[in-house]
Amino acid sequence: MNKHYDVAIIGGGIIGMSIAYHLAKAGKQIVLFEANEIGKQTTSAAAGMLGAHAEGEGDEDIFFQVGRQSQALYEKLTVDLQHESGIDIRISVGGIMKVAFTEQEKRALCRMQHLPTFEWLEASSVKERMPQIADDIVGAGLIEDDVHVEPYAVCRAFWQAAVRHGADVKEFTPVIDVKRGKETLTVSTAKGIFTCDHLTVASGVWSGRFLEELGLSHSLYPVKGECVSVWNNGPALAHTIYHDHCYIVQRDSGKLVIGATMKPNDWQAIPTLGGIEAVIHKASQLMPSIREMPIDQCWAGLRPATSDRHPYIGKHPEDERILFATGHYRNGILLAPITGEIIRGLIVGESVHKEWLHAFRIGRKEALFV
Ligand SMILES: Cc1cc2nc3c(=O)[nH]c(=O)nc-3n(C[C@H](O)[C@H](O)[C@H](O)COP(=O)(O)OP(=O)(O)OC[C@H]3O[C@@H](n4cnc5c(N)ncnc54)[C@H](O)[C@@H]3O)c2cc1C
Repeated sequence: MNKHYDVAIIGGGIIGMSIAYHLAKAGKQIVLFEANEIGKQTTSAAAGMLGAHAEGEGDEDIFFQVGRQSQALYEKLTVDLQHESGIDIRISVGGIMKVAFTEQEKRALCRMQHLPTFEWLEASSVKERMPQIADDIVGAGLIEDDVHVEPYAVCRAFWQAAVRHGADVKEFTPVIDVKRGKETLTVSTAKGIFTCDHLTVASGVWSGRFLEELGLSHSLYPVKGECVSVWNNGPALAHTIYHDHCYIVQRDSGKLVIGATMKPNDWQAIPTLGGIEAVIHKASQLMPSIREMPIDQCWAGLRPATSDRHPYIGKHPEDERILFATGHYRNGILLAPITGEIIRGLIVGESVHKEWLHAFRIGRKEALFV
C-alpha cells in the first residue's frame, strides 16, 4: 500500500526544509523528497546575508516589509533551532556597510536615512571601523540589522529539527511526476509512490517543470552566481562590505566569502575563470588587501529568478491542495523563515497577510525588473 502523508514537499533546499520544519512542528505528517543531498544546490552557494535593506528598493517595497519580518523571525529561530537541532546557525553581528564611491551613490543611499536602522558614516568613520576598506570611498550606510548566517547550517538545522518533529526526509529521491486525483494527490518518485492531501513545490530553479505539468505558466529562470573564498590573513572584518551587488562577508572560520556574478539563463553551476576574475576585480576595489589572501575555493549556484524578482508563494489558483514556494532569487536565505510561516498558515488555516499573497501569487502580471 502507498504511504499517505498530510503534506509532501518537493525539494530539500532551505525553502523546502523551512516549510517541512514549520509544518512538522505544527503537528502535520510531512514527507520531503530531495533529488540529491539536502541543501547542496543553490542553498550551499549563498553568502547568507539577510539583506532586507541592502537588497530592497526602499521601505515602500513589499520585499522590504516581508524581508524585515523574516529577518526578525531569525532572532527566535536561532534559539529554537539550537535547542531543537543542536546546530548553531552562526548568526553574525555587525551588519552591512553599503559603500558609496560617488556623491550620486551617497544620495541614493541616504534615501534610507529616515529609517532608524540606517546610519550614514563619512569615509573617516568607516575607515576607523574598517581600516581595510578602500581609500577612495565617499562614505557608507551602516545597516546593523542586515546580519548574516551560514546557509547550509540553517538548512541542516531545519532538517534535523523537522525530523525531530516527525518529518520523513528522503534524500536521493527525485520526484518524477504528480497526479491529481479527486481524493488525494499521488507523487511518483524514483523510490516508490506516495499519496498526500497537500503538495508544496519548493524545488528552486528546477520548479518550472512542475509548474508547467500542473498547468501554470511562469517566468522562472536561472541567474548564475559565482563566488570565491579566501583566508583572511589580516584583522577580521567588523561588517560585511557591499557595493553594487558585490560583497565581502566575514565567516567565523576566518574565511572571507566574495561574490557574486549575475549570469542570466546559464544552467551550468560551475564557476568560470572569467567570472571569478570579475568578482576578484570588483572586490579588490572595495578592499585592496584581498589580492594577497590565499584562495580557499570557488563555486557557483543558480538563483531561481522570476521576471519581477519576487518569489512565487501561494496556492495553485485552481487546486487549493497544491502550493508553491519558489523563485526566491537573491534572497532565499533571508526569506526562508517567512516562507515557511506563510505556507504553514495556508495549510493549517492561520491568517496570512493578503497583500503578500497578492504580490507573490503565481499568474500575476509580472513587471519586467530593470
Ligand atoms: C552566489 C549566490 C549567493 C547568494 N547569496 C544569498 C544571500 O546572501 N542571501 C540570501 O538570502 N540569498 C542568497 N542567495 C539566494 C539563495 O541561495 C536562494 O534564493 C535559495 O538558496 C533558494 O533556495 P531553494 O530551496 O528554493 O533552492 P535550492 O537550494 O536550489 O533547493 C532546491 C532543491 O530542490 C531539489 N530538486 C530539484 N528537482 C527535484 C525533483 N524533481 N525532486 C526532488 N528534489 C528536486 C534540488 O536538488 C535542490 O536541492 C544566493 C545565491 C547564489 C547563487
